[in-house]
Amino acid sequence: MSNVSKQRLLLATRNAHKTCEVREILGEGFEVEDLTARPDLPDVEETGATFEENARLKALAASPHYDGWVVADDSGLEIDALDGAPGVRSARFAGEDATMEQNRALLAEKMRGVTEGRRGRFRCMLALAKDGAVVRIFSGVVEGTIATEERGSGGFGYDPLFVPEGGDRTFAEMSAGEKHSLSHRGRALAGLAEYLRAR
Ligand code: IMP
Repeated sequence: MSNVSKQRLLLATRNAHKTCEVREILGEGFEVEDLTARPDLPDVEETGATFEENARLKALAASPHYDGWVVADDSGLEIDALDGAPGVRSARFAGEDATMEQNRALLAEKMRGVTEGRRGRFRCMLALAKDGAVVRIFSGVVEGTIATEERGSGGFGYDPLFVPEGGDRTFAEMSAGEKHSLSHRGRALAGLAEYLRAR
């Protein structure tokens, strides 16, 4: 496909893992920039109580600075035994500046000995904005269980601990394509891609 017919969009994130996944999932027909080339734009405080609120905040903060479609992804893991935690705090579970290794270690510790309620889900909310306003919200969910120990080296974040339903491998034990065909982000982006292709 030529450059001319590609849809351009700005992904409102500095998380290189998210950008990489979004590029892989959307594929050839889309040209995805992110905020790494825009140090002038301030980081947004994720003060929302829900994934949707945070996705809206991030999309609205970037949109006035970009001529075209802006997409913001807010996502995370909800675990039944932890009453839905870490939820919107997934990136900051073990503290504001926690690494993902620390977040996973805290999760594994909280889940030690838990036999009931290891079920959970990844949720992804995408806010699509243009000209300073949110136009549409797209959502995706994948149900699964929390593994008793980390397995695999693919993906990012909590992937080594998440086993999507229907199998026994973690997301980190799958190829990128296999993860995307099942994942919350893959599902949300399928809706977004269909919407944008019609435009
Ligand atoms: P935020 O959307 O930037 O607030 O952060 C989302 C956080 O949720 C990430 O830092 C990860 O910890 C987690 N997360 C979201 N999507 C995934 C995924 O696909 N795999 C593993 N962890 C994820």
